[in-house]
Amino acid sequence: MRSLIAGNWKMNGLGADAMERARALAAMARHGLPCDLLLCPPATVLARLGAALAGSGIALGGQDCHGEDQGAFTGDIAATMLADLGCSHVIVGHSERRRGHGETDAWVAAKAAASHRAGLVAIVCIGESGEERAAGRAGTVVHRQLEGSLPANATSADTVLAYEPVWAIGSGKAATLADIRDMHGSLRARLLAMFGEDGQAFRLLYGGSVSAANAGPLLALADVDGALVGGASLDPGAFWRIAQGGRAG
Ligand code: PEP
Repeated sequence: MRSLIAGNWKMNGLGADAMERARALAAMARHGLPCDLLLCPPATVLARLGAALAGSGIALGGQDCHGEDQGAFTGDIAATMLADLGCSHVIVGHSERRRGHGETDAWVAAKAAASHRAGLVAIVCIGESGEERAAGRAGTVVHRQLEGSLPANATSADTVLAYEPVWAIGSGKAATLADIRDMHGSLRARLLAMFGEDGQAFRLLYGGSVSAANAGPLLALADVDGALVGGASLDPGAFWRIAQGGRAG
């Protein structure tokens, strides 16, 4: 399967530096992409980045959306609005939103469903905390999140799953290759049980301190179909080197 490398800029980037990063990446992409690339910048620069990335083949995504299509939800962004700006993807259920905004699995599933109604691919994030892993509950927690956070009619065409152990995010300490292989293998088995043959086609991303230094072996693992990259995606050179470790498909 062709890899997807998605950059989550989180709450980083004003117009000038965001444009500089996007232009640098678009320049690197002028001879073709090593695999599928996606940038998820802050909503405030989405429109400008869309213009800077036009023709580069690099896709644009949001970092979150609301579970309703419109209405009295001050400060929120509807999936339809992201689509209107030229986005093809949206991240939902990132642990920083689950933790900081009290998002439940059911709410994440509603956001994924709203993304699908808007024609967007939902990147659904799941992952255990450090305490849950220490207590031997990583598998249970992650599988519960998987079952609760995907709409019943999700397909591999409209949904990507990102396994992001919370303790690995922004810590500089990625999960071990063995732990990633085991978790992704068990998630693949569960996807097959939930969606039949189509379960094999769902992209499974790993996220959590992915860097240019560790991406190669990580992206070569079976059932790792790409990466969700936070910190390192703010450096166009590092992001590009990560992408070079992905599969061309
Ligand atoms: C993330 O926020 O999704 C993430 C994986 O961050 P980092 O790469 O910085 O650990």
